[in-house]
Amino acid sequence: MPVKVCAVTIDQAVCKQCGICVAFCPKDVLVADKEGQVEVAYLEECSGCLMCELLCPELAINVDIAE
Ligand code: SF4
Ligand code: SF4
Repeated sequence: MPVKVCAVTIDQAVCKQCGICVAFCPKDVLVADKEGQVEVAYLEECSGCLMCELLCPELAINVDIAE
């Protein structure tokens, strides 16, 4: 059964706008604007793989998965 993802939260105060999460998200959920600020653009596409949370060097991303 697919997991249900409630939220992908980015702490903008901690994010260094490196773009790693945008580059590695397999579902293109995350989008950076031209200043590099990352937004959760397509949460409905998120598979809950946790790649973004695990790869973020600043630990700025939290993915909440419903049980
Ligand atoms: S990987 Fe982390 S620090 Fe880099 S852009 Fe994404 S949220 Fe920001
Ligand atoms: S959990 Fe996976 S699919 Fe969801 S935003 Fe992060 S990298 Fe993308």
